[in-house]
Amino acid sequence: MKEESSDDKEIIKEYTFKTWSKQKGWDPIIVTYAKGVYFYDKNGKKYLDFSSQFVNVNLGYGNEKVISSIKEQLDKLQYINPSFGADVRARASRSLLKVMPKGITKFFFSTSGTEANEAAIKITRLYKKPNYKILARYRSYHGSTESSISLTGDYRRWFVEPHTMPGVVRIPEPYCFRCPLKLKYPDCGIACANYVDYVIKQEKHVAGIIIEPITGTNGVIVPPKEYMPLIRKIAKENDILFIADEVMTGWGRVGEWFAVNLWNIEPDILTTAKGASASYVPIGITGFKKEIGEYFEENVFAHGHTFEAHPVSLAAIPAVIEEYERLNILSHVRIMGDYLGKRLMELKERHKSVGDVRGVGLFWAMELVKDNNNTPFGGYEDKYDGKITLVDTLAKKLMEKGVYVYNGPSWFIIAPPLVINKEEIDQGVNALDEILNEAD
Ligand code: PLP
Repeated sequence: MKEESSDDKEIIKEYTFKTWSKQKGWDPIIVTYAKGVYFYDKNGKKYLDFSSQFVNVNLGYGNEKVISSIKEQLDKLQYINPSFGADVRARASRSLLKVMPKGITKFFFSTSGTEANEAAIKITRLYKKPNYKILARYRSYHGSTESSISLTGDYRRWFVEPHTMPGVVRIPEPYCFRCPLKLKYPDCGIACANYVDYVIKQEKHVAGIIIEPITGTNGVIVPPKEYMPLIRKIAKENDILFIADEVMTGWGRVGEWFAVNLWNIEPDILTTAKGASASYVPIGITGFKKEIGEYFEENVFAHGHTFEAHPVSLAAIPAVIEEYERLNILSHVRIMGDYLGKRLMELKERHKSVGDVRGVGLFWAMELVKDNNNTPFGGYEDKYDGKITLVDTLAKKLMEKGVYVYNGPSWFIIAPPLVINKEEIDQGVNALDEILNEAD
């Protein structure tokens, strides 16, 4: 046993379990305080959060209005089980109806994006019974429980853990920088989307398709403009449900309330989390259409959690929506997003190690390449071996410079809190500029 006097880091390392990495060698920075777009370690060192943690701290840290709404709810009613109808549940639903894409009018509340997707898949399979197959893309992330990890196509995940849920059928993604079909946009005729129609017809028994409208953790893959409307059309024509996983892309991140708004499309089911509470409390939301809701008027959904529709989580929803509106966040994101994109493009011009810069709003990836061609730095697909990559090392150096950027094996995800200003963007971009010299 460690002594009571051991320092926090020793206790954390000894007794808590770090996921997604080998326990050995984990060297966490102990964070004690955060405000605005900055967080601070126990020695008082200040870090710019240039990725909103895991693209979730949308309103930055210490928003007093959100905090006081949560505190008020704690004082009034901290918990009631979900078979009751707390008033805060009505308030959260009313606010959601104002911002959700057209047609999404029924909500199931959980505590994470993973749970939101679990519910979405169960709902889809029950509603479309006896069809049960779900289409999901290779480069995707939908969560880490047994079925959501099975939906996840990211090679880095199943490199460690095999998929176990039957009925998942994979489709390629619109990753034009390295097209999986080896085609070139626009001559490709959006073959990756058209192929989905073929897959559905061959597979039969397909209940639905789950898609991150803009792929997140796998490197902010923005589809060509035709892709999403085409997928929506194919899903409709084949009578399967279209599930938009907006866990990362929702809540102003792309300069719209939800990414589906970029193409004016309406999903049958929308899952979200992260920005729904701006991460002041855990929340997951599975929103769906009226007709799906009506099916469950007569059929039981045997599902639920003790913390389902938790009053404190629900209290955050109207509060963050009010804050997004008060701060005019959609327009702010578009303006700051243009500026961030322009500055990142400058880095692409200047550094030969930057192969691609892509993004929308305040949601960007910078992908690094080796040898001035498009060889990935980190190794991916068949080459991924779980080892530390140069991009991991550069991310560590950025931390030493006081800038946190979330990274994949070959890319940085630059997605700061939506309240960021130009000077703060410059600080992050300038730090990236300095460390990229080491990659060139
Ligand atoms: N779906 C997407 C698109 C995500 O980006 C994530 C998390 O990053 C999840 C689902 C899982 O959400 P959570 O980590 O809240 O369980």
